[in-house]
Amino acid sequence: MHVVVNAAMSADGKLSSRRREQIAISGDEDFARMDRLRADSDAVVVGVGTVLADDPHLTVKDESLIDERRDRGEPAHPARVVVDSTGRTPLDAAVLDDTATTYVCTSERATIDDRMDLSNRAELVTAGDDRVDLLRAFATLQGQGLERIMVEGGGELIFSLFEAGLVDELRVFVGPKVIGGRDAPTLADGEGFVADFPILELESLERVGEGALLTWRTAER
Ligand code: NAP
Repeated sequence: MHVVVNAAMSADGKLSSRRREQIAISGDEDFARMDRLRADSDAVVVGVGTVLADDPHLTVKDESLIDERRDRGEPAHPARVVVDSTGRTPLDAAVLDDTATTYVCTSERATIDDRMDLSNRAELVTAGDDRVDLLRAFATLQGQGLERIMVEGGGELIFSLFEAGLVDELRVFVGPKVIGGRDAPTLADGEGFVADFPILELESLERVGEGALLTWRTAER
């Protein structure tokens, strides 16, 4: 399995404002790059915080990329995965429509009723007692043949993936806005590390539209 975390952050490292609403950080060129990365993935993963804030569809937008996937014998869109301990993904969320297969990863904390409701619209993966055990959940996804994983955020999930040692690559578009706010989400939130910081190796740095794309690989800890 290869896990790529892709995100767009402001020049000051925020994924969104303190209101946690979706903010346009990327431009057209970065959207096109992101769409290609989606099209080259088996699954696109987000945390439930992102579903609640942005209601993303997580499908490939460019028809020619969809055709390429079909030509390769793949489904039109990658699978969608929501990491959601208690099953609070709204049943009318865009990720639960029938455009693509969706997995909802829950923990034992999700009630039977919520699991039954979600199971009508998604494949359920149960891993972990309190929060989703990401190592176990990702192993289950791998068992379903999902090898090329793209994670689209948000900051809580990204931190946990680094903590679990699951990130192979980090691709960050740094856009030309300053958002600020101590309570605004950053690229990696969670508890934060105080030691044993994951170390990255810079693979490339390129100008994309009005911003910069940084591609990092995780080094051995
Ligand atoms: P998030 O990372 O999308 O989701 C976090 C939630 O996932 C947690 O609160 C938790 O809720 C659930 N979860 C379950 N197991 C977990 C685990 N092991 N580790 C971490 N989380 C786990 O939410 P967020 O950090 O609040 O990010 C949402 C914000 O980011 C929004 O403002 C959105 O607009 C922004 N965003 C920006 C970008 C970008 O590229 N600029 C991309 C995506 C999102 P439960 O305990 O209920 O399960």
